[in-house]
Amino acid sequence: MDDPLVQRMRGFGTTIFAEMTDLAVRAGAINLGQGFPDTDGPPAMLERAVEEIRSGGNQYPPGPGVPELRAAVAAQRAARYGLEYDPDGEVLVTVGATEAIAAAVLALAGPGDEVVVFEPYYDSYTATIALAGATHRPVTLRPHGGRFAFDPAELRAAIGPATRLLLVNSPHNPAGTVFTRAELECIADLCREHDLIAVTDEVYEYLTFDGAEHVPLATLPGMRERTVAISSAGKTFSATGWKVGWITAPRPLVRAVQTVKQFLTYTASAPYQRAVAHALEHEQDWVAGLRGSLQTKRDRLIDGLTAAGFTTYRPQGSYFVQADIRPLGFTDGLELARALPEKAGVAAVPTQVFYDRQAEGAHYLRFAFCKRDEVIDAAAHRLRGLGL
Ligand SMILES: *Cc1c(COP(=O)(O)O)cnc(C)c1O
Repeated sequence: MDDPLVQRMRGFGTTIFAEMTDLAVRAGAINLGQGFPDTDGPPAMLERAVEEIRSGGNQYPPGPGVPELRAAVAAQRAARYGLEYDPDGEVLVTVGATEAIAAAVLALAGPGDEVVVFEPYYDSYTATIALAGATHRPVTLRPHGGRFAFDPAELRAAIGPATRLLLVNSPHNPAGTVFTRAELECIADLCREHDLIAVTDEVYEYLTFDGAEHVPLATLPGMRERTVAISSAGKTFSATGWKVGWITAPRPLVRAVQTVKQFLTYTASAPYQRAVAHALEHEQDWVAGLRGSLQTKRDRLIDGLTAAGFTTYRPQGSYFVQADIRPLGFTDGLELARALPEKAGVAAVPTQVFYDRQAEGAHYLRFAFCKRDEVIDAAAHRLRGLGL
């Protein structure tokens, strides 16, 4: 039989995470490829989910999400950023940020439309844009002053008459960049000038380091009305398997996204939604602790990678460090990532798979530091001698 896969999804075969995890398992390697924590979220949140399951909270929650969670999300956006959203109609609970991204793109872009994304990009962006029948236009983040940043002229040039959406991820996975207010102003200017909708992926909104401030694009003048903001409990509360996410946006945009979302999953995860509502309201101290601990882990991994001979970029947010492999004598990150589990007993992700212009990212590996200290130390130890 010919490949039964629909034409527009060809080229989106097995994800790199599956391939690298498979290699890691077979080689018994330490997996710093996939970005999930190896410790649990706040105990009271976990307990809350168990209580919900035991006490009959197991049926379909309302389509937009349970009222407690919608109220908690609205309260969090108001308290933290001064952004006011009505829990009834301006907040929509989704199956993780992943469904929020898919539903937003499918609702707001179609055949003939273009969506601007920053590369390296989170892999679901380009796949959902393709699924929508739209086309993505990449703008490359490149090292500049020790961080990955975009060239405003390149962003401007990527926008044309067919552009509908701008997909903005800050704090950024995998580059670790937290966009500055000036960078966001530049994005906002273009959105206003070209009447574009911004979809913002803010799943690492709490996980910023060295005092870097996360500024939601919707807080900039004229942006609330044209921004679909996305976040999720997975990264904030170390519960990536719960898949509880949400969007906040003005009513017409929420209505559009919900029109698609209701036919993807309708609704999900009633007990977890209630537990996350509890966590948003009562576990901010725990989140502050996580942020501090991740910053220390970041530095620990960077020390290890530096000792092994990599050049690293110190991320201001997210779970990931970019490591340049060239000082070790390598040039092809994909080749090295495929060999690394066997060669060094460590798995990482080749950043180039997150680019259209793969040559731009050919010499980086992405390592995750959301792991226990002893796991980071063991990986660092194994990587020593790699360049010999
Ligand atoms: C993890 C991640 C997501 C997915 O979030 P879920 O809530 O697990 O669906 C989306 N965007 C980025 C940038 C991520 O790192």
